[in-house]
Amino acid sequence: MTQTLFRDDAYLRECSATVTAISEQGLVLDRTVFYPLGGGQAGDAGVLVLADGREIAIADTRKGKNEDGQPTDAICHLPVLADPAASVLLQWQRAGVQVGDQVTARVDWERRHRLMRFHTTTHLLCHLVPQLVNGCSITPDYARLDFSMTDPLDKEALTAGIARLVAAAHPLVVGSISDAELDANPALVKSMSVLPPRGSGQVRTIRIGGPGPEQMIDLQPCGGTHVANTAEIGAVVVTKIEKKSATTRRVVLGFAA
Ligand SMILES: [Zn+2]
Repeated sequence: MTQTLFRDDAYLRECSATVTAISEQGLVLDRTVFYPLGGGQAGDAGVLVLADGREIAIADTRKGKNEDGQPTDAICHLPVLADPAASVLLQWQRAGVQVGDQVTARVDWERRHRLMRFHTTTHLLCHLVPQLVNGCSITPDYARLDFSMTDPLDKEALTAGIARLVAAAHPLVVGSISDAELDANPALVKSMSVLPPRGSGQVRTIRIGGPGPEQMIDLQPCGGTHVANTAEIGAVVVTKIEKKSATTRRVVLGFAA
């Protein structure tokens, strides 16, 4: 099992850790600051610094899988491969890394911060467009959110809505509710495509806006990494609205040029 330091502090850029497993799925650490692909958010990239100072570039991060293809609580770090068809295991072995080694895991912070800014913006979109979400993808360069709806959406109005919520500098609070509380409040789940991060009896939540109900902008279960205040999002705009299908409107986000 990997301790998920990024869930308690999304601003941690590096940590020391011990290698606990190496396989074709990647290198597993006892703790990490690397977010694994999930909930629509891309996996982190960065470097692993070995005890002798060598740096191994990490291309992606994924959840481990068991024999049935179900996710485990191990987080797998994938090296940048010289040849995309090369063996992940062989690459780690060639680097001379072994189980038990002490390393430093350092996330590509500039890239991660872009993911955090986009992820928080997708939650702002859930406030601006109160419809169910049926698709989500957050990358360092763009993000897209698909809403299950037939009415058209206005690009300029949404961009203005985001700018207003960014300027208002709403704080974000990471919290949790019990599985039972979530079951009793199904409206909290705004996504049909991303399942809430259940499993421990408690579900992590992200709240945007102040403590009073009238100040709340958005509250939903989410396992992703977020900025601490909407002001930190900066200049994110809606670059495109697409009619993906008769019942789906896709909102594409980008950074203002
Ligand atoms: Zn989220």
